Amino acid sequence: MELPFAESWKIKMVEPIRKSTREEREQWLREAHYNVFQLRADQVYIDLLTDSGTGAMSDRQWAAMMTGDESYAGARSFFELKDTITRLTGFGFVIPTHQGRAAENVLFSGLVHEGDIVPGNSHFDTTKGHIESRKAIALDCTVDEAKDTQLEVPFKGNVDPAKLEKALAENADRIPFIIVTITNNTAGGQPVSMANLRAVRALADKYGKRVIFDSARFAENAYFIKTREEGYADKTIKEITHEMFDLADAMTMSAKKDGIVNMGGFIATRHEDWYEAAKRFCIPFEGYLTYGGMNGRDMAALAVGLDENTEFDNLQTRIHQVEYLAARLDEFGIPYQRPAGGHAIFIDASKVLTRVPKEEFPAQTLTVELYKEAGIRGCEIGYILADRDPVTRENRFGGLDLLRLAIPRRVYTDNHMDVIAVALKNVFDRRDSITHGVRITWEAELMRHFTVQLEPVE
Ligand SMILES: *Cc1c(COP(=O)(O)O)cnc(C)c1O
Repeated sequence: MELPFAESWKIKMVEPIRKSTREEREQWLREAHYNVFQLRADQVYIDLLTDSGTGAMSDRQWAAMMTGDESYAGARSFFELKDTITRLTGFGFVIPTHQGRAAENVLFSGLVHEGDIVPGNSHFDTTKGHIESRKAIALDCTVDEAKDTQLEVPFKGNVDPAKLEKALAENADRIPFIIVTITNNTAGGQPVSMANLRAVRALADKYGKRVIFDSARFAENAYFIKTREEGYADKTIKEITHEMFDLADAMTMSAKKDGIVNMGGFIATRHEDWYEAAKRFCIPFEGYLTYGGMNGRDMAALAVGLDENTEFDNLQTRIHQVEYLAARLDEFGIPYQRPAGGHAIFIDASKVLTRVPKEEFPAQTLTVELYKEAGIRGCEIGYILADRDPVTRENRFGGLDLLRLAIPRRVYTDNHMDVIAVALKNVFDRRDSITHGVRITWEAELMRHFTVQLEPVE
């Protein structure tokens, strides 16, 4: 008999979590105005709000923290981090930042100007924010397949080369660089193939442009290339990682994802002129060049985290867990963005709560129902997150309305996945009795989902 799959680690330290009663949860939800961001974390049993900064560090990472060098300039921990990044990516210039959006802020301050167009595949919201706040345009060139949640294709995060070429042909002089997000977070943690990265590189070369990878989940992307793309099965994750970055000029990184640290980020590039451009903004915004917003101990832990998380076994354990949850949902017929992404499952709320009108926010309603059911906190990635149209001030109902269940790295076991799946099944089974959703009683003008206040529609 073939041995079953098991995690590639064992547990050395545990943190208790607490269950609650439905009555408590209903009370807490009222106090939180039906917005799960407003809950206290200890009111949550299983927290799937995000996979950002919520991972569990390894014993080697904790050990590295004790050896962190906190020197202001030229710390040994900086060089450990820089050497690891250079070894993995080939990029010789590295600037640490306090998280991913800070890397965007520092690099884009030098590169993005009013009137520019930055094509890419579903820019992450902070990336888009840092482009739009400079009065430039973030042009989405993702493949159309990404919009159909039920379509099963291996690389749903890809850039559509035809859309990209059109942008380059029409507006080459306004394009400072192309940005490719690996994996494509916004499309559901969907990977980008090596062939697609190569096609982007070829177009960039044809038009004399540079390419940045928004690399928060580059290691998960490498795992999908190894397991789904022809010709990569026998390559190591580190070989695939290097091959991916050979096709880029620079990267911005949120280390809170595939670096498996709680806080941190960086810029890396092979071009001195970009390094010089970023340096000017790092010092006033983040700090001196060899720490840029990070503690020495955090840089030391990140160096180890990057090394560990570019090993197959660690990634296989992680992706296997996400796929395990997906398989349980399949058993119950619950619709989600297919195939399962690298870091999360995105439930298609519009296909679950079919009786809740879109004006009453089905995905937010499902988020509330799942919390009420079992104290599980997911995150609406839907009509509330989409904000209002800046001109008409109408809600934007054009996109997908999803409940994201983000899985923290090395934190929960498959037993927790079973609880999540069954809790969702219980809500799914009574979906026809859920006919009303929520209405907004107060909202901020921008990024309203963090602070929005809601009430149930009776
Ligand atoms: C999280 C993330 C960012 C921003 O990083 P922070 O560390 O949260 O500032 C940028 N791009 C992608 C794809 C991300 O997932």
